[in-house]
Amino acid sequence: MALLVKNVRIVDPTQNLDAPSALLVADGKVLAIGSEAEAQASGAELVDGGGKLLLPGLIDLHVHFREPGQTAKESIESGSRAAVAGGFTSVCAMANTKPVNDSVAVTELMMSKARAANLCRYFPLGTVTKGMEGEELADYGNLMAAGCVAFSDDGKSIMNAAIMRRALKYTSWLDVPIVAHEEDTNLMGKGYMNEGETSARLGCLGIPSAAEEVMVARDIMLAEYTGGHLHLAHLSTKGSLRLVREAKANGIRVTCEVTPHHFALTDKELMKFDSDFKMNPPLRAQADLDAILEALADGTVDAIATDHAPHTWDDKECELPIAAFGVIGLETALPLTLELLVNRKVISLSRAVELLAAGPARTFRLDRRGLGSLKPGSPADFILVDPEARITVDRDFIQSKSYNSPFKGWTLPGKVLGTWVEGRRVWGA
Ligand SMILES: [Zn+2]
Repeated sequence: MALLVKNVRIVDPTQNLDAPSALLVADGKVLAIGSEAEAQASGAELVDGGGKLLLPGLIDLHVHFREPGQTAKESIESGSRAAVAGGFTSVCAMANTKPVNDSVAVTELMMSKARAANLCRYFPLGTVTKGMEGEELADYGNLMAAGCVAFSDDGKSIMNAAIMRRALKYTSWLDVPIVAHEEDTNLMGKGYMNEGETSARLGCLGIPSAAEEVMVARDIMLAEYTGGHLHLAHLSTKGSLRLVREAKANGIRVTCEVTPHHFALTDKELMKFDSDFKMNPPLRAQADLDAILEALADGTVDAIATDHAPHTWDDKECELPIAAFGVIGLETALPLTLELLVNRKVISLSRAVELLAAGPARTFRLDRRGLGSLKPGSPADFILVDPEARITVDRDFIQSKSYNSPFKGWTLPGKVLGTWVEGRRVWGA
């Protein structure tokens, strides 16, 4: 059955397209776009887009779905529902589950749960090291054959440079990225917020920006030495982004992502002593936030990723030093991007779509499967968005099992009216 979505403004940077248009879909693929779509549409089911935005389905390189092991926080089913509600048609799921995803058995279990949920596309990451213990490399070849698209010990830094060197070398032959959570554990110590003026005033233990930057610097040098592809997760500091900019200018294979909470908030939020503002890396200073905005605009950043990290009320509702690190983010990423980046003219709408779809697709090679684009022949993963209709972040709006959002009560523009995966509607009436 063919489907024609007409009366929409399609924004697809992979085709240099931002124009009133129409999209024709058949057999789960994009068949035609624009006047050709209307011309070939006889007999197709019709959706009137009401003049709203039609975008490629968003792709999140960094989610924690907690399954197997911690399904009170989130399951693959509930996380997938949060994803499609937020306009994400593909998610890449971190390996720090219980047990961790260092075996084909765990990868296959995850993939079967995602198939049963039947909502978004689900791409697991395998661990870099067995048990995420930082000592022995996992079996990348077999994990890739089972469906893993990248490797990460996210949640833990790989402190042993020799292990990181070998991981980058092996994955350079397999042509997949190593995704690094950069944090020198000695510099971090027992810190739980950014080290700076605010932590000093509050008397809280800080995590210095150098804890991230020294590891970013080390791993950029190892990427250059090995020829491996280093992808830097959730960068949070001015110095990290400066290092990435220089590395890219020198032709080193490095990509990076930033999160909405790091471009929206600073460590001043911790004055509230509310653990919904505690995550790792921590919210940083205004100068870091300004540097993130600059890097989003000038092309240094490849992707906006949520680091969606659900936690139960019990994990969060305790004293700041012992509360769990992490916040949810799938449902708020697009509205925050529209409000704080596009409406404030930090970046264009086309660049925003690039950062949420084509950029992440390229970073994890999902573009080779046609994802992140609406070119004819691509999988029909797309979303319909009203950029003016406002959403309010409350418990009803959030589809995740957990509600640890730092944006509770915020009202933002950008309502996802519908989400389609492979031509099938998975969100919206
Ligand atoms: Zn991380």
